[in-house]
Parts: sequence; structure tokens; C-alpha cells
Amino acid sequence: MLVQRAYKTELDVNDQQVTACRQHAGAARWAYNWGRQVKQERYKATRKSPTAIALHRELNALKKTAVPWMYDVSKCAPQEALWNLDAAFQQFFRRCALKKQGKWKGKLGYPQFKTKKKGLGSFRLTGRIVVLDKTIMLPRLGRLRLKEREYLPTSDEVQILSATVSEQAGHWYVSLQVEEEHLVPENSGPVVGIDLGVKSLATLSDGTVIPNPRHLKRRLKKLKRLQRMVSRRQKGGKNRKKAVRTLAKLHRQIKHQRSNTLHQVTTRLAKTKSVLVIEDLNVSGMLKNHHLAQAIGDVGFYEFKRQLLYKASWYGAKVILADRWEPSSKRCSGCGWIDEDLTLSDRTFHGEQCGLVLDRDLNAAINLEKLAGSSSDSVNACGAASAGARRKPRVKLAAKKQEPNAEYGLSILG
Ligand SMILES: [Zn+2]
Repeated sequence: MLVQRAYKTELDVNDQQVTACRQHAGAARWAYNWGRQVKQERYKATRKSPTAIALHRELNALKKTAVPWMYDVSKCAPQEALWNLDAAFQQFFRRCALKKQGKWKGKLGYPQFKTKKKGLGSFRLTGRIVVLDKTIMLPRLGRLRLKEREYLPTSDEVQILSATVSEQAGHWYVSLQVEEEHLVPENSGPVVGIDLGVKSLATLSDGTVIPNPRHLKRRLKKLKRLQRMVSRRQKGGKNRKKAVRTLAKLHRQIKHQRSNTLHQVTTRLAKTKSVLVIEDLNVSGMLKNHHLAQAIGDVGFYEFKRQLLYKASWYGAKVILADRWEPSSKRCSGCGWIDEDLTLSDRTFHGEQCGLVLDRDLNAAINLEKLAGSSSDSVNACGAASAGARRKPRVKLAAKKQEPNAEYGLSILG
């Protein structure tokens, strides 16, 4: 099976390379903001929005006059930024349509201007990209040292689609989007129901409890203190800048730890179980509930589901998404009786008909496991074929290239 995935690793860049990277990120940011402005103005005047291709043509003309400095960077940086802009608008319109149907409750997310205050950002390069033992060769930037050896794939069988260079808290990373052949192993693991929780990350129907990585909780105090410190410092001052940097560092740590935990858990589950049943939670609705928001934001339900889906397709497992209206928490796993009065604070399930007394989450997990046998209309099975569904190829300016299904998307963990 051909799969698209990303490998992200840290770069070891010297001052000269940092300058070049900043220039590229700056060009990408400039093109994005310029494109957003033009799109908005044109739409107001003509009710039509120019495409990324049209914008790129205009930008090329501008290079000769207004922005000659853009000749110093790879043409990919602004070009890819314009593609990102197109995607951002498409996502916005998709959410608008969903909202009209009443299927979206979250923010619509109109594309915003990119600002340096939120970090230097990133840029994507395509073209000749070569991975060597300790270095990576990128168009225009040349040979960049890698902090970690032998992580990026060097095999000929791996096709490199693009490389995204990004900055976070003073560190530079490269994320390589590749397409590679993946052998799906025979999976003879058991069927398991997974109840994603607030108290613990997940409870499995076999009784296993995966504890919650409360990274954010543990560090919340420190985070709050740092945030206060930033706001107390004088705007534009040296000390404020320093405090902002410390805060960004803490955010980076939290992000990495959270990402690590999720990856470990989802990999283990996909490798050892053949069928995984999870509830298709309505996260945007749940986030409205204030008490839940912290815990859910911490665990990343959406990210959990996303990882489980693509990893299941890698390891020959099947994910079944139970309809979000399936009363898995309220139903007695012994006899099917439904407790209409069950609230979130009830941690133990008491089956009044058959006398079953069980941990609330375990009861829910067992109900989910049972759904694997009864394939009703309310259940969507996602087998190996569809779970790792790759996005449609995107026709680009010059040649046809494919948009990578990035493991570390641009703002997945943000
Ligand atoms: Zn019962």
C-alpha cells in the first residue's frame, strides 16, 4: 500500500542559514498576506476571487517592481504560500456551508493575516530535495545539517514530495512529506471498545485504563505565571521579548510531550488490536462546556481519532466510528437498560434492572465493543482502504504534485 506521511526533525543551522530561512519564511508570509488582501479587495469589487495561479502570475510581475528582494528566495516559498491561502479559504467556505446545515458549531476561521509576533512561521519547498547521512539538500538553501541522524528516509523507494521548514521558539525544523510503500502486516489482535474520557485518556473494554497525560495541567501554573509576567513587562521592551521567548519555550515543551504521548498510545493500539470501536465525539459541541474544555483541549480527541484512523490502515486494523448519539455511557452493558438520569459526575454505573455495578467508562467501552458485532446504520466502518484515504492530487502550476497528508500538519497541535 502506498502511503503518504511526514518525517519531522530538527535542523542544525548556522547564522547564515538562519538568515536565509528567515528570508524564505518572510517571503511566504508576505505572499500570504498580500494574496489575502488582493483576494478580499477583488471579491468586494467583482464578486470573484482570483485563484492561486492567477495570484502567482501577478506576484511574478510585482517582483520586477515592488518586491525585488523576492528574487533572493526560492520561487516555491511564495508560490506554496498562495496554495496554502487557497486551502485556508476553501476550509473557511466548507465550514460556512456546514454551519448553514447546522453541522458546525465552532469558529468559521476566516483566514487571518500572518504576523511575526506569532513566530516566524514556515515555508514549503518542492523540487530537488536530497537526504544524505547527516544533512539535507534543499533548493536555494543548499546543504543543511540535521540534529538527528538516520531518521529521515534515504531509500530510493521513498518519493519525496516536498519539504516544509518551520521555526518554533528559536529552533528550526524540517518536515519531509513523502510517499512510500508500506507493507500492511497480518493483524490478529482482539476487538476492543475505547471510551475516550475526561478523567483518563482512554478506557478499553478489556479493562485497561490509559491515564491522562496532564502535561498542560501540571504546567498550567507555570504557564499562567509566565503569561502574567509577559503582560506586566513594558510593550516593545527588551524584558518583554525575553519573557515572550520563555513562554514560547514552555508552549513548545507542552506541545512535544502531548504529541509524543498521543503517538505512543495510538501506535500501540493500532498495532495490537484488529478492530477498534470509538465514539465519534462532537468535539466542537463539547468544547462549549467549560469544565470539559480544558481536559479535552489537553488530550486532543480529534487528534486521537485522526492518528488512530491512519495508523489502523498501516497496521491492518479496522476502526469503527460509533454514531455520536449512540448512548454508550447510559446503556447497561449487562442487559441494555438505559439510565436516562446519568450525569457526567456519576463515575460508577448502576444497572437498576440487572444490578450491574461497573466503572462508568468501562461500561461505555464494553458497549462500544459490542457495536463491532452489530453493524447497524449508525456505525461507520473505516477499513484499511478508506481510513488512510489520501487527499486528491492537486494540479499545480508547472507539474502535477500531490498534497502531502502531513503527520505534523501546520497547526494540528496548536
Ligand atoms: Zn443491566
